[in-house]
Amino acid sequence: MRISVIGCGYLGAVHAAGMAELGHDVIGVDVDPHRIASLAAGVAPFHEPGLSELLVRNRSRLRFSTKIGDASGCSVHFIAVGTPPGADGQSADVSFVEAAVSALLPVLTPGDLVVGKSTVPVGTADLLSSRLQPVGVELAWNPEFLREGHAISDTLRPDRLVYGVQPGGNAAAVLDAVYAPILKSGVPRLVLDRPTSELVKTAANAFLATKISFINAMADVADASGADVVALADALGLDARIGRRFLNAGLGFGGGCLPKDIRAFRARAEQLGVGDSLAFLDSVDRVNLSRRDRVVSLVQEVLGGDIRGRKVAVWGLAFKPDSDDVRDSPALEVAQRLHAAGAEVRGTDPAAIENARYKAPELTFDPNPVTAAHEADVIVVATEWAAYRALDPARLGMHTGRRIVIDSRNCLDRERWESAGWEYRGLGRGSSIARLALPTA
Ligand code: NAD
Repeated sequence: MRISVIGCGYLGAVHAAGMAELGHDVIGVDVDPHRIASLAAGVAPFHEPGLSELLVRNRSRLRFSTKIGDASGCSVHFIAVGTPPGADGQSADVSFVEAAVSALLPVLTPGDLVVGKSTVPVGTADLLSSRLQPVGVELAWNPEFLREGHAISDTLRPDRLVYGVQPGGNAAAVLDAVYAPILKSGVPRLVLDRPTSELVKTAANAFLATKISFINAMADVADASGADVVALADALGLDARIGRRFLNAGLGFGGGCLPKDIRAFRARAEQLGVGDSLAFLDSVDRVNLSRRDRVVSLVQEVLGGDIRGRKVAVWGLAFKPDSDDVRDSPALEVAQRLHAAGAEVRGTDPAAIENARYKAPELTFDPNPVTAAHEADVIVVATEWAAYRALDPARLGMHTGRRIVIDSRNCLDRERWESAGWEYRGLGRGSSIARLALPTA
């Protein structure tokens, strides 16, 4: 099949390469000439494991362009442009999706299918559809659930495929043909109406965010009572009704999706007159943001209050490991706030330094976590990159000023660090104050 993908960011570039991997002829279109030049050269314009290899392997079936006209002749057009927060900072700005549809109109021919993949407020697809119907083009919504860092396997082996279609149309059959190899491997697919398909995505993100904030709220209770949130999560997770995944207490969620998506969902519910039903998402957001305050105050606590001139190594700047994405990154925000409070911050990250430098030029960066921690008073582990877990705390301690580590992702082997002489502080691992307040045996 001949397929176009409009918008070649974290979602669209991987989707374009994934569709070529399935055997289709694909053209990726983006307004950003740098992204397009990089993709056309077979080089991923952002850090996504395996993407460059996929681009190179499928070179013969994959082209990239800044001109929407190059999408003519395709029969299926995926829309994967951004839906950032609008001017109010809450509701989703769908103007990029609208612009992509407008730009597509002249290249469409009757019988084509337009497929939205961007995350949009419920009701958006039905509104857009009225612009495509007059030219004989159907619109389906096919929300994307990929996780950055695992985007390729999530695209080619998703948990499920969701189609939001108009009753009586042909979209489900066309999408079945697009995804035939994936469906053949047994991946479930659900054919829904368009509003339900839009809701599947926003509700899934709201649920995941709630689960994360739930365990982070438990971390506060654990800190106040001397309990251990990791042991708590392990025990809770064995309950088949709850499950262990997304129960890792820490610095909380960030990135280009979860934070903006729960705020947009909340705003959309207000517009629909059911705001009260989603009011709990305000608490989810608040608990999440308070993790950043908690880590900044932990640094102040372990350094005795005033952190001016103190050397702080921040390990990790991306919002999650295996990504270079620093959009709403809790790690980068903590680094910036420590710097603003007068600390000498040295940030490190295996992939995100370039993006972090662009957003936070005031910070000092070092790609090597060991030299970043040279003479440091404290190390803050802010993104749980596997490489940090592998470092030897005993050898590292020979380079640092003091042996204090704040493991804000609860990802290090606590015993290993403590037995190497480090003062270890996690989130929800029982604060020293709470422990002191407990009767000793
Ligand atoms: P992104 O900012 O990385 O990419 C969006 C791209 O669209 C940019 O490269 C931009 O230049 C391009 N663009 C904007 N307007 C355009 C136009 N008119 N024509 C062509 N290109 C245009 O964003 P992203 O992370 O890829 O997210 C895209 C959408 O996918 C959002 O709705 C997001 O919520 C959703 N989503 C993202 C992920 C993820 O992990 N990043 C996962 C699932 C869903």
